[in-house]
Amino acid sequence: MAIIVQKYGGTSVGSVERIYNVAHRVAAAVDAGHSIAVVVSAMGDTTDELVSLARSVAACPSEREMAVLLSTGEQVTIALLAMALENLGCNAASFTGPQAGVVTDGSKLNSRITAFSAVRVKKALAEGKVAVVAGFQGADKDGEINTLGRGGSDTTAVALAAALQAHSCEIYTDVDGVFTCDPRIVPDARKMNEITYDEMLELASLGAKVLHPRAVECGKGHGVVIHVRSSFHYEPGTLVKEEIDLETGTVIRGIACDKGQAKIAVVGVPDKPGVAARIFTAIGKANVNVDLIVQSIRREGENDILFTVCADELPKTLTVLEPLVKDVGAKELFHQNSVAKISVVGSGMVNSTGVAAGMFQAMAAENINIEIISTSEIKITCLIAEDRVEDAARAIHKYFNLSDVPLYPENSSETTEVTGRNNQVCRGIQ
Ligand code: ASP
Ligand code: MG
Repeated sequence: MAIIVQKYGGTSVGSVERIYNVAHRVAAAVDAGHSIAVVVSAMGDTTDELVSLARSVAACPSEREMAVLLSTGEQVTIALLAMALENLGCNAASFTGPQAGVVTDGSKLNSRITAFSAVRVKKALAEGKVAVVAGFQGADKDGEINTLGRGGSDTTAVALAAALQAHSCEIYTDVDGVFTCDPRIVPDARKMNEITYDEMLELASLGAKVLHPRAVECGKGHGVVIHVRSSFHYEPGTLVKEEIDLETGTVIRGIACDKGQAKIAVVGVPDKPGVAARIFTAIGKANVNVDLIVQSIRREGENDILFTVCADELPKTLTVLEPLVKDVGAKELFHQNSVAKISVVGSGMVNSTGVAAGMFQAMAAENINIEIISTSEIKITCLIAEDRVEDAARAIHKYFNLSDVPLYPENSSETTEVTGRNNQVCRGIQ
């Protein structure tokens, strides 16, 4: 009898009818002889609604009370799903994150899981019940409620699969799996049968919203194979795992677009040790996430430093930087909204040449100007005008033939059963 963790996202549990759809799927897996632990998100847009509700009460509510409020969304779903299961004759018990043994690090709204005992979940499974666990929440060592950051239910599911040493971890969502690019942008984008943790981490962090990046990190650390699939049909989705079968010709696996970025340039920065450290320490202290840092070559004892932040964080970043620019002796501060990142990702890049040239050529043919280029071993990112990002994605997708490359394994039905643990030792995140 295999232990299977199934996670259903907000859309999949968005109405009473959909909760019953989930209950039927869970009951079918129980009837097939499996032990099922289910992790759920809040119904539909509940979390967004709770955020607006809080803002209508107080302009700047405390993080503690926000965590208490936001965690209620998932609590509604666990109780309703457990009721639906019992109504179908399937024994079930619901557990909040703290009841399930999720211990978090104390940061209120973007907490990390530090331990997950799952004692009561294991007991419920041993008693033949379905355990229904609230995603996205836990309690710190003092019993304070913490939430895991938006989209964090995926992370609860993968951590639970690790805690239970589950046979598989299935993330059910409203899309069919992980695609070579967002199909709303590139209509002939293809669903991948498999993708490595590293590729998925890059895509997830770059804005492909299908899986929470920390869930991928957790899967990689604990060797949990993650199966991302649709809750609306039974076709297999995409397996996220350590190694994938060799795919001839698929150097590029996916393309991610990230709109809503802002570019900041600190111009005429004195070229001496410690200046970049001062600038980025101050920004880091303000809790702003910086990306794509580029420094120009030295010119008459000065450099220019460029970087990007999420457009929402621009005002905060400028407030920190304005006084600092004078302090460090820099000449000017520029900023520009309406830029976007376009990235190509693929493990095969490590051993290939010409990928960057191909990406740049594809954009040049569309007359798209590149402002910043940044690369890692398996990723190339360019900063371009936001209103050209969709053209860029289509051009690059076409250039690399991502709609036509053969996908391995060819017979995707083989992937349905290949969801066991792969016993990888944690190798950390680079
Ligand atoms: N309900 C939370 C959110 O909307 C967590 C989740 O759905 O994963 O972000
Ligand atoms: Mg989600």
